[in-house]
Amino acid sequence: MTFLFNSDAKRGAIFAEAFARELPDIAFSMDPKSVKPDAVHFLITWTVPEDLARYRNLEILFSIGAGIDQFHIDAVPASVKVVRMVEDGIVRMMQEYVTLAVLALHRDLPAYLDQQRRRTWQTIASRQASERRIGVLGLGMLGSAVLERLQPFGFPLSGWSRSPREIDGIRCLSGRDGLDILLATTDILVCLLPLTDETRGFLNAELFAGLPAGAALVHVGRGPQLDHQALIDALDAGHLSGAVVDVTDPEPLPADDAFWNHPKILLTPHIASVTQPETAAVAVIGNIKRHQAGLDPIGLVDRNRGY
Ligand code: NAP
Repeated sequence: MTFLFNSDAKRGAIFAEAFARELPDIAFSMDPKSVKPDAVHFLITWTVPEDLARYRNLEILFSIGAGIDQFHIDAVPASVKVVRMVEDGIVRMMQEYVTLAVLALHRDLPAYLDQQRRRTWQTIASRQASERRIGVLGLGMLGSAVLERLQPFGFPLSGWSRSPREIDGIRCLSGRDGLDILLATTDILVCLLPLTDETRGFLNAELFAGLPAGAALVHVGRGPQLDHQALIDALDAGHLSGAVVDVTDPEPLPADDAFWNHPKILLTPHIASVTQPETAAVAVIGNIKRHQAGLDPIGLVDRNRGY
């Protein structure tokens, strides 16, 4: 029985060591050419290999990242469990990034950076955290962890999900009505939704119009969820005050894209959160052990929901 690792060799070496220690009965390979296809029961990868069908005994297809939108899941046999990456390293990094982004917007950092470039020494009226309402789209592994990390700052916190949720200290909303309420009462909107048919193009002109004037956006979901032009229009019209954008469509962003030089946009190249190999290996090994014990792996994707 073989675990096939289809990602970069540096991460692979860390996985190999952990597998040798924790699952010595499972052969570990980083070379698809040298494995016997029938021996491969587990595969970890970012994109689904075109020759997936050759692994006839595949039991679990692991994503090396938190999302599985890059998988064409319909091409994966129904007998194969698809599992996204649920590991502490991703969570910690996303908590850091969103805290950084929320505080940057709360403390007017894009405007101060613009002023610095123009050698302008000028104070912008500040607001207390208790007057800055944060709304997070998505209350899953990352959305709920980010809200937990933001709690000590004293921002009024809300979150929105597909199904109703309850989290201490957070106003949880769901459904279409819940979305309208969340938008109308949010000053900094954070997108942590998975990319699905329902969330493609979700951050659009209509959604921005539902936010109060002066609201800001932190986009850390997936690029195709954001209508780029709608964001530029809302910023240029002054309806939105700023945006921190980590994911774009396409990636990398073309050199002539308007996002690069926009004074109200802080842009990063999809680095909000990255799988950490040490903690990821622990998570994957734990999931194989769960699977072998007849339990569902943590992060098992529901094919009907698409995430
Ligand atoms: P998750 O645990 O699956 O949570 C997804 C959340 O979104 C759930 O609360 C879910 O609602 C909600 N949701 C999904 N579709 C919805 C819809 N149509 N309407 C309302 N709510 C909806 O996912 P996660 O681990 O938190 O990750 C979220 C996403 O973050 C990933 O899919 C990935 O795209 C992105 N990400 C980005 C980076 C980066 O570096 N920028 C890194 C990692 C992940 P329910 O609770 O009702 O299921």
